[in-house]
Amino acid sequence: MLDVSEATRNPGSVYSFDVGQAIAPQEIGGDTVVFDEARLFGRFEAMENGDIEIEGKLQVLAHARCANCLKEASARVEADFRELFQREGDPEDDEIFTYSSHVLDLQKLAMSYAVMHLPMRFLCRPDCRGYEAYLGQDQKPDQQQKEQPGQYPFAALQQWLDQKSDSADQE
Ligand SMILES: [Zn+2]
Repeated sequence: MLDVSEATRNPGSVYSFDVGQAIAPQEIGGDTVVFDEARLFGRFEAMENGDIEIEGKLQVLAHARCANCLKEASARVEADFRELFQREGDPEDDEIFTYSSHVLDLQKLAMSYAVMHLPMRFLCRPDCRGYEAYLGQDQKPDQQQKEQPGQYPFAALQQWLDQKSDSADQE
Protein backbone atom coordinates (compact mmCIF):
# COMPACT_ATOMS: atom_id res chain seq x y z
CA MET A 1 0.00 0.00 0.00
CA LEU A 2 1.36 3.36 -1.04
CA ASP A 3 -0.13 6.63 0.26
CA VAL A 4 -0.26 9.14 -2.60
CA SER A 5 -2.33 11.87 -0.89
CA GLU A 6 0.55 14.33 -0.83
CA ALA A 7 1.42 13.62 -4.48
CA THR A 8 -2.17 14.21 -5.62
CA ARG A 9 -2.07 17.63 -3.91
CA ASN A 10 1.17 18.44 -5.78
CA PRO A 11 0.85 17.19 -9.35
CA GLY A 12 4.18 17.03 -11.15
CA SER A 13 6.22 16.63 -7.96
CA VAL A 14 8.21 13.42 -7.81
CA TYR A 15 8.14 11.24 -4.70
CA SER A 16 10.25 8.22 -3.94
CA PHE A 17 9.07 5.01 -2.33
CA ASP A 18 10.53 1.76 -1.01
CA VAL A 19 7.97 -0.74 0.25
CA GLY A 20 7.46 -4.44 0.92
CA GLN A 21 4.61 -6.29 -0.75
CA ALA A 22 3.35 -9.81 -0.17
CA ILE A 23 2.59 -11.92 -3.25
CA ALA A 24 0.15 -14.84 -3.01
CA PRO A 25 1.36 -18.29 -4.19
CA GLN A 26 0.68 -18.84 -7.90
CA GLU A 27 -0.16 -22.06 -9.78
CA ILE A 28 2.09 -22.08 -12.83
CA GLY A 29 2.54 -24.99 -15.21
CA GLY A 30 1.22 -27.51 -12.69
CA ASP A 31 3.56 -26.33 -9.94
CA THR A 32 3.06 -23.88 -7.11
CA VAL A 33 5.41 -20.92 -6.99
CA VAL A 34 5.74 -19.33 -3.55
CA PHE A 35 7.17 -15.86 -3.05
CA ASP A 36 9.03 -14.19 -0.22
CA GLU A 37 7.95 -10.62 0.47
CA ALA A 38 8.75 -8.51 -2.58
CA ARG A 39 10.58 -5.20 -2.42
CA LEU A 40 9.36 -2.42 -4.68
CA PHE A 41 11.18 0.87 -4.91
CA GLY A 42 11.31 3.82 -7.27
CA ARG A 43 9.38 7.03 -7.84
CA PHE A 44 5.88 8.22 -8.56
CA GLU A 45 4.12 11.43 -9.43
CA ALA A 46 0.53 12.57 -9.86
CA MET A 47 -0.84 13.84 -13.15
CA GLU A 48 -3.19 16.85 -13.29
CA ASN A 49 -6.17 14.48 -13.64
CA GLY A 50 -5.22 12.55 -10.51
CA ASP A 51 -3.72 9.52 -12.25
CA ILE A 52 -0.45 8.32 -10.71
CA GLU A 53 2.54 7.41 -12.83
CA ILE A 54 4.82 5.01 -11.00
CA GLU A 55 8.12 3.49 -12.08
CA GLY A 56 10.75 1.46 -10.32
CA LYS A 57 12.14 -1.95 -9.66
CA LEU A 58 10.70 -5.14 -8.19
CA GLN A 59 12.91 -7.65 -6.39
CA VAL A 60 11.62 -10.92 -4.98
CA LEU A 61 12.83 -14.43 -4.20
CA ALA A 62 10.59 -17.10 -5.75
CA HIS A 63 10.47 -20.76 -4.67
CA ALA A 64 9.33 -23.78 -6.68
CA ARG A 65 10.50 -27.32 -7.43
CA CYS A 66 13.62 -28.06 -9.44
CA ALA A 67 12.60 -28.94 -13.00
CA ASN A 68 15.10 -31.82 -13.02
CA CYS A 69 14.96 -33.44 -9.59
CA LEU A 70 11.90 -31.87 -7.85
CA LYS A 71 13.95 -30.64 -4.92
CA GLU A 72 13.27 -27.18 -3.56
CA ALA A 73 14.68 -24.49 -5.79
CA SER A 74 14.59 -20.73 -5.71
CA ALA A 75 15.20 -17.92 -8.15
CA ARG A 76 15.86 -14.25 -7.60
CA VAL A 77 13.44 -12.26 -9.75
CA GLU A 78 14.06 -8.67 -10.78
CA ALA A 79 11.88 -6.52 -12.99
CA ASP A 80 11.65 -2.89 -14.00
CA PHE A 81 8.14 -1.51 -14.13
CA ARG A 82 6.41 1.63 -15.27
CA GLU A 83 2.64 1.88 -14.92
CA LEU A 84 -0.21 4.33 -14.66
CA PHE A 85 -2.74 3.98 -11.85
CA GLN A 86 -6.01 5.55 -12.98
CA ARG A 87 -8.08 7.34 -10.36
CA GLU A 88 -11.27 7.07 -12.41
CA GLY A 89 -10.55 3.64 -13.87
CA ASP A 90 -12.80 0.59 -13.57
CA PRO A 91 -11.33 -1.60 -10.78
CA GLU A 92 -12.83 -4.68 -12.49
CA ASP A 93 -10.76 -4.08 -15.65
CA ASP A 94 -7.79 -6.46 -15.58
CA GLU A 95 -5.95 -4.49 -18.27
CA ILE A 96 -5.41 -1.37 -16.18
CA PHE A 97 -4.35 -0.37 -12.68
CA THR A 98 -6.71 1.77 -10.64
CA TYR A 99 -6.75 3.28 -7.19
CA SER A 100 -9.08 5.06 -4.83
CA SER A 101 -8.88 6.81 -1.44
CA HIS A 102 -5.34 8.12 -2.12
CA VAL A 103 -3.83 4.67 -1.67
CA LEU A 104 -2.16 2.55 -4.36
CA ASP A 105 -2.52 -1.18 -3.81
CA LEU A 106 0.66 -2.65 -5.31
CA GLN A 107 -0.40 -6.28 -4.95
CA LYS A 108 -1.59 -6.76 -8.55
CA LEU A 109 1.43 -4.94 -9.96
CA ALA A 110 3.89 -6.97 -7.88
CA MET A 111 2.18 -10.27 -8.74
CA SER A 112 1.99 -9.65 -12.49
CA TYR A 113 5.59 -8.44 -12.83
CA ALA A 114 6.94 -11.24 -10.65
CA VAL A 115 5.09 -13.91 -12.66
CA MET A 116 6.14 -12.36 -15.99
CA HIS A 117 9.80 -12.50 -15.00
CA LEU A 118 9.98 -15.98 -13.50
CA PRO A 119 12.64 -18.25 -15.01
CA MET A 120 11.41 -20.77 -17.59
CA ARG A 121 12.61 -23.59 -15.34
CA PHE A 122 13.64 -23.58 -11.69
CA LEU A 123 16.86 -25.49 -10.96
CA CYS A 124 18.13 -26.42 -7.49
CA ARG A 125 21.65 -25.74 -8.77
CA PRO A 126 22.93 -24.78 -12.22
CA ASP A 127 24.39 -28.22 -12.92
CA CYS A 128 21.54 -30.34 -11.53
CA ARG A 129 21.51 -33.58 -13.53
CA GLY A 130 18.12 -34.64 -12.27
CA TYR A 131 16.78 -37.61 -10.40
CA GLU A 132 17.24 -40.05 -13.28
CA ALA A 133 20.97 -39.33 -13.28
CA TYR A 134 21.52 -41.06 -9.95
CA LEU A 135 18.71 -43.61 -10.11
CA GLY A 136 21.05 -45.85 -12.06
CA GLN A 137 23.98 -45.39 -9.72
CA ASP A 138 24.88 -48.04 -7.16
CA GLN A 139 26.48 -45.72 -4.63
CA LYS A 140 24.44 -43.74 -2.14
CA PRO A 141 23.18 -40.35 -3.18
CA ASP A 142 25.37 -37.62 -1.68
CA GLN A 143 24.63 -35.99 1.65
CA GLN A 144 22.96 -32.96 0.12
CA GLN A 145 20.37 -35.12 -1.56
CA LYS A 146 19.65 -37.00 1.69
CA GLU A 147 18.92 -33.78 3.57
CA GLN A 148 15.38 -33.73 5.02
CA PRO A 149 13.94 -36.42 2.74
CA GLY A 150 10.45 -35.90 4.19
CA GLN A 151 10.07 -32.65 2.29
CA TYR A 152 10.26 -34.23 -1.10
CA PRO A 153 7.71 -36.20 -3.11
CA PHE A 154 10.28 -38.89 -3.83
CA ALA A 155 10.95 -39.42 -0.12
CA ALA A 156 9.59 -42.96 -0.21
CA LEU A 157 11.76 -43.87 -3.16
CA GLN A 158 14.70 -42.18 -1.46
CA GLN A 159 14.12 -44.34 1.62
CA TRP A 160 13.96 -47.46 -0.50
CA LEU A 161 17.24 -46.53 -2.16
CA ASP A 162 18.85 -46.03 1.26
CA GLN A 163 17.56 -49.37 2.56
CA LYS A 164 18.74 -51.08 -0.60
CA SER A 165 22.28 -49.74 -0.22
CA ASP A 166 22.23 -50.42 3.57
CA SER A 167 21.39 -54.09 2.99
CA ALA A 168 23.99 -54.22 0.25
CA ASP A 169 26.56 -53.04 2.83
CA GLN A 170 25.59 -55.88 5.19
CA GLU A 171 25.92 -58.64 2.61
ZN1 LIG B 1 17.65 -30.36 -9.08
